[in-house]
Amino acid sequence: MSILNADLHCHSVVSDGTLSPEELAARAAANGVELWSLTDHDEVGGQHRALAAARSHGMKYLTGTEISVSFADETVHIVGLGFDADSTELREGLRRTRSGRRERAMEMAGQLAAAGIPGSYEGALKYVGNPDLISRTHFARFLVEVGVCRDTSEVFRRYLTEGNPGYVPHRWASLKSAVQWITQAGGMAVIAHPARYKLTANEEFALFSEFKAHGGQGVEVVTGSHTTAEYARYAETAREFGLCASRGSDFHSPDESHTDLGQLPLLPGELTPVWDVLSDRIL
Ligand code: AMP
Ligand code: MN
Ligand code: MN
Ligand code: MN
Repeated sequence: MSILNADLHCHSVVSDGTLSPEELAARAAANGVELWSLTDHDEVGGQHRALAAARSHGMKYLTGTEISVSFADETVHIVGLGFDADSTELREGLRRTRSGRRERAMEMAGQLAAAGIPGSYEGALKYVGNPDLISRTHFARFLVEVGVCRDTSEVFRRYLTEGNPGYVPHRWASLKSAVQWITQAGGMAVIAHPARYKLTANEEFALFSEFKAHGGQGVEVVTGSHTTAEYARYAETAREFGLCASRGSDFHSPDESHTDLGQLPLLPGELTPVWDVLSDRIL
């Protein structure tokens, strides 16, 4: 059976989503998803639950995660798919990547307090499902709750981003480590939503070249974070670099996400889908 509706990128309460792995699986199945992956940020703690829930709905499953990487003064996200979720090296690498989030959050709260918004650390914590994974998204929900901003996109325009109150630069994993943790655990590394990064043309070329050299094999072409023009642009990049193509909504929450699970255009037909190459890893 050839798969058309694959959704290989979304987040649960194990990172910065608002639904449980079980609620996401039910929503994906209701939307007609045939192959699903839960890709929590820097964390694989939800994988066993996600697989069990996928099975209960008759969906095929690929293990997943989305690793935060520092590259050229920018944060780049690398999705891992189809790895062994019990790999010690991967779990240890992710644990190290998560460490430091609490201190970063306290600094973010300090800046927000100085900007006249007190109590944001405690406020953000109310939204955190995984004490190891306090993220900017949780602060954004608090800033909306207290009426500082109307919605989370306004938060990321006015706060928590470079040049704005609450922005704390952070050193994440290296590109090489992230790709290696994934591939050595039997999975495929995929560059997430490439259009989102503020990289020059040279830096973007370096990202794709180095990613390939480290063993990366895929790029997200159809994602909730891309426009239609960007689907075409990164379809071309996939061909240029000989990468296979992934598709995923990057769904976080029914209240915040524009793109629902499985509700995306199909991958352009001439590209090789990541799930063709990962057929042995589908559960
Ligand atoms: P962190 O890992 O703590 O830096 O948080 C990054 C998360 O913030 C991303 O995974 C998104 O969920 C969210 N985010 C970042 N930028 C934006 C934006 N412009 N609009 C909405 N959400 C964003
Ligand atoms: Mn997120
Ligand atoms: Mn991302
Ligand atoms: Mn994501």
